[in-house]
Amino acid sequence: MENIDILIKNANELITLKGPNRPRIMEELKNLSIIKNGSIAIKDSKIIDIGKNLKYKAEKIIDASGKTVLPGFIDPHTHVVFAGSREFELDMKLKGLSYMDILNSGGGIFYTVNKTRKASEKDLLSQSICRLDKMLTYGTTTCEAKSGYGLNIESEMKILKVQEKLNKEHKIDIVSTFLGAHAIPKEYKVDEYVDIIINDMLPKIRGLANFCDVFCEKGVFTVEQSRHILEAGKDYNLTPKLHADEIVDTGGALLSSQIGAISADHLLMSSDKGLRQMAKKRIIGVLLPGTPFSLMQNIYAPARKMIDFGVPVALATDLNPNCWTENMQFIIQLACLNMKMTPAEAITGATFNAACALGLNDSIGSLEMGKQADIIILDCPNYKFLPYHIGVNLVDTVIKKGTIV
Ligand SMILES: [Zn+2]
Repeated sequence: MENIDILIKNANELITLKGPNRPRIMEELKNLSIIKNGSIAIKDSKIIDIGKNLKYKAEKIIDASGKTVLPGFIDPHTHVVFAGSREFELDMKLKGLSYMDILNSGGGIFYTVNKTRKASEKDLLSQSICRLDKMLTYGTTTCEAKSGYGLNIESEMKILKVQEKLNKEHKIDIVSTFLGAHAIPKEYKVDEYVDIIINDMLPKIRGLANFCDVFCEKGVFTVEQSRHILEAGKDYNLTPKLHADEIVDTGGALLSSQIGAISADHLLMSSDKGLRQMAKKRIIGVLLPGTPFSLMQNIYAPARKMIDFGVPVALATDLNPNCWTENMQFIIQLACLNMKMTPAEAITGATFNAACALGLNDSIGSLEMGKQADIIILDCPNYKFLPYHIGVNLVDTVIKKGTIV
């Protein structure tokens, strides 16, 4: 009998998400490939066997009787590195001020940009580690992180370097996105700033990010400016991503399909034409229900329509000072209760399709032989408890790269 590191056995439900290794759509989203009374064998950070009643000599045996085992959550859209907090804005929101109202009155993102510019690398690092620790506690084992609270070359570099350090030092794997085009800093006109992003920032951030993102929105960056930045990013091997159609439909979804983006995110107001093009090109729609929830907008991305059209949907927290949650379980709850996704669809969106949105589906996002052992054990008998037993942390054990953390 082979000696292994960890054997998980007797899992009431082992949610493997075994299936086609590409973004999942329509009915595929519902297929979690569940093994009843399942076991997983882990060795050297990898899953080496998976099935029923496996027999191995293991360093550590975990009896998962009565529990649910699934891949670690993947959070494919966060702004985890920022300084300060904006809890004072809640009173403004309660008075009915919109995100744009708060932004225009000097609050919102510029408050955070100021704090982040002033913060030392060490400060940013320690504030971000607290958030990553919480993410891990709630079952997230990989996340994306965007720059975008620097809005000048020094501060954008500082954030990307902090993200690089976090990726090395923290258990969570962090994939970096350059979001210099998050807002227009007050010291520049928009065209000047687009030039700075393309000619000054992109050459200097080489090697510090995998993706380039733009906040394509009315009053921020137009479709043409976004296209320009994302095309330039491609020259530096940065795959396009987009904040698209969050507040109004500016044609962001359509742009994502024209520019070869890996994902377009938010999509509350996207046109049917844009969504159909995304479906055709299999561009992942990353839905962020925590954001309209925090903004008390009572309007959510049309997840059902997107799934019907064949858009591969994923879920993310959008963790930022405006929507501060590290908890993907909460996002799954919002996806089901407010966007009418089924529990199975939401879980696929928070695991396998989220891995696709980061280009990591070869190594994570499902529990299959040869994949990285990023696994969570939930203290509930089946996966339907995730959006049902709400407001608590259902995670019992987190295993990252074959180690219990
Ligand atoms: Zn965002």
